[in-house]
Amino acid sequence: MTRTFDAVVVGSGVNSLACAALLARGGWGVCVLEREAVVGGAIRTEELTEPGFLHDTFSAWHPLWVGGAAHAELGDELAARGLDYLNTDLPTATAFPDGASAFLLRSTEENVAELGAEWRGVVDSFLPNADLAFAMLGTELWSRSGILLALKALRRLGPRGLTEYVGGTLVSSRDWLTETFPSEQARGLLAPWVLHTGLGPDAASSGFMNQVIAVAIQEGGMPIPRGGGARLVDALVQLIRDRDGVVEAGRDVERVLVEHGRAAGVRTGDGEELRAERAVIANVTPTQLYGRLLPGARALRYRYGRGDMQIHLALSEPARWAGDERLNRTAIVHLTPGLDGVSRAVNEADRGLLPEEATIVVGQPLTIDPSRGPEGKGLLWIQLQELPRGFAWTEEARERYADRITERLARHIPNLESSLLKRVVLSPADLERANVNLVGGDPYSGALSLDQNFLWRTRPGHATEVKRLWHIGASTHPGPGLGAGSGTLVAKRLLR
Ligand SMILES: Cc1cc2nc3c(=O)[nH]c(=O)nc-3n(C[C@H](O)[C@H](O)[C@H](O)COP(=O)(O)OP(=O)(O)OC[C@H]3O[C@@H](n4cnc5c(N)ncnc54)[C@H](O)[C@@H]3O)c2cc1C
Repeated sequence: MTRTFDAVVVGSGVNSLACAALLARGGWGVCVLEREAVVGGAIRTEELTEPGFLHDTFSAWHPLWVGGAAHAELGDELAARGLDYLNTDLPTATAFPDGASAFLLRSTEENVAELGAEWRGVVDSFLPNADLAFAMLGTELWSRSGILLALKALRRLGPRGLTEYVGGTLVSSRDWLTETFPSEQARGLLAPWVLHTGLGPDAASSGFMNQVIAVAIQEGGMPIPRGGGARLVDALVQLIRDRDGVVEAGRDVERVLVEHGRAAGVRTGDGEELRAERAVIANVTPTQLYGRLLPGARALRYRYGRGDMQIHLALSEPARWAGDERLNRTAIVHLTPGLDGVSRAVNEADRGLLPEEATIVVGQPLTIDPSRGPEGKGLLWIQLQELPRGFAWTEEARERYADRITERLARHIPNLESSLLKRVVLSPADLERANVNLVGGDPYSGALSLDQNFLWRTRPGHATEVKRLWHIGASTHPGPGLGAGSGTLVAKRLLR
């Protein structure tokens, strides 16, 4: 018997689940199909190392979800299904090789004390138009709403003011940081954050992303769900099922069925055809959409970004940092020599080299949520975002590179080696094996340089050339991250 739904969603990333939950609440019959054995895509919480240690295997930090439109709509219903966010007053810091450190805190006053009086200027110039900046990341730009947003900006700023504002969004992190902060430490505190937007500090628009992130962290902190990132997935799945939706794992979709120029459903690898009466929504890369699910479709020029490595450590006691005591309590600490250090490592990776001194992102989820590990133990989530594309990762290369990173980390955390219980490393190749959307281990499913961002992230808008087939996910506007932006935009459009 053929099963029929209003919408079939391919893949179960956060965009898919938010989209399906919103549609299900709107009365649509939805079915989400995930090829892996576990739903959630780049959100997964597992006892990867030792029993009792709950590691977020891939993504971990949820400010984009908590600040996003899907959370605004669904937050209460998810909370009713057990989702509970915790936060911190010490969201991020950078630790420098000489033992110095710099912190970004939760109020303008504190950050002026940390970074210098220039910080007040940053906040004062950013905040009046913060709504425009965030709207660019939360609006369907290729639509009436996009035009209305442009008109709103024009009315507020005038033609010259708007031209100046847009020009300002193109600045690189290097230019913005060096023009704004005399302090090398302030620059080194903020520069690594551009990596989390898929850019490097010399890329166009990275200076603007720097400002968006820095202000967002001050205002929003670094929320994470109690018990692990997967609690967000659990609550979304529960919400979908409570509205009679279907979520199935271990179901690889191999074809979008097209009839009379319209998407009519999908076929799975095991031969089931599922009908979709109103929409097929594909959370895949353009490579898969046009190269596999729609055979014969015109290929889309699309480039992937640098690779990512994740290192997970279980420790017999909490990490004790050398230097400022607050490092022990900070959620995310970057290790880098500074702005030039990040720039150099990105440049090396872009030239196919393993960086000499990579920027090490050290996440300490236990500082916010002690339930992630056994009492009195330590757990670190480590990310390296400056790895070359196309590198042939062997198990040995992966472990040797991770050795180099943990040795550097041990200079900052003197008890690291003595307390290490177990280490699990995922190379870019491992990431792609776990999630086909992470092509080449690119955590953002596509390079985020300007030619592939905003209006230019795959096709403008989320409609495809096939009627009723919608494209969502990190490869589409507003790009990667846990904000679920594309899934929310498409759900809202369909519900209209
Ligand atoms: C290691 C890592 C760390 C990150 N850290 C953070 C962080 O801390 N905070 C943050 O905001 N962002 C982070 N990101 C980015 C963020 O996690 C992702 O951009 C986001 O989760 C992507 O969600 P998505 O909905 O686009 O799809 P994905 O999560 O990529 O899910 C897509 C799903 O579709 C499935 N799929 C693909 N093809 C098919 C098919 N044909 N049939 C069935 N299923 C299919 C895949 O198996 C996958 O499960 C991180 C990403 C990675 C990889």
